[in-house]
Amino acid sequence: MQTFRNLSTPAIVIRRERMGESHKGLVLLTADLGLVHAAAYGAWKMHSALRTGSEPFAHSLARLYHDPVKNTYKVTDLEVRESFEGLRTDLGRIEAASLWAEVVLKSIAAGETTGGLYRLLLACLRALEAGGADRAPYATAQFLWRFLDLAGYRPDASACERCGRAFGEAEGAAWLAAPGGIACGACAGGAGLPLSAGARRYLEATRDLDLAASLAISLDPSSLAGLGKALQHAIRGVLETDLASLRSLGQR
Ligand SMILES: [Zn+2]
Repeated sequence: MQTFRNLSTPAIVIRRERMGESHKGLVLLTADLGLVHAAAYGAWKMHSALRTGSEPFAHSLARLYHDPVKNTYKVTDLEVRESFEGLRTDLGRIEAASLWAEVVLKSIAAGETTGGLYRLLLACLRALEAGGADRAPYATAQFLWRFLDLAGYRPDASACERCGRAFGEAEGAAWLAAPGGIACGACAGGAGLPLSAGARRYLEATRDLDLAASLAISLDPSSLAGLGKALQHAIRGVLETDLASLRSLGQR
């Protein structure tokens, strides 16, 4: 169906692999075309004009050539808007961005949400770049919580999914099996992943806040850890697959 051989779209590098001696095979999350696999010839060479823009998480205006016969894409230019160098300065932020990239890669079936996914990933990368390493778990929580919304699986954190009762201010809850809803203790009967009252209120409060306002909110460490586990559990359920990045996060 693609009739334009040369096209340009804003894009974020989701994955970068070595291709031969000096080329890069890229997976780009584009604003307009969803995920695109594209070859960046010579991009591994020191003086290549494609070098910076083809590194992981770089955000560029990508110019692509589409070969309609082979249905392949070649990168002809990457006009770098943000290289997100700061992300690469500490392990916590590298791991967070890598997890998000993996979620994006594995969720590609969600075709109609790719524009939203591109905007979400870009906003979260900007927040991760601007915030310190200690804010990375919050950026991940917000990425995953908002991803669940894009995917159509965000549960209601204000009332029990089973009995419909609104949660009390100081009431914790349980996130039921994948992808699942959020239930009160009585309805959950010990099943699901526990959410502290703080974590549940955090989800409820940040549902309608913009990302920057959401990221200004902090949780106590055990609520944050429990929230992270519950979100990971829910994401695994939605993607119906395990995530290597989540496994490594879970061990920390
Ligand atoms: Zn209930």
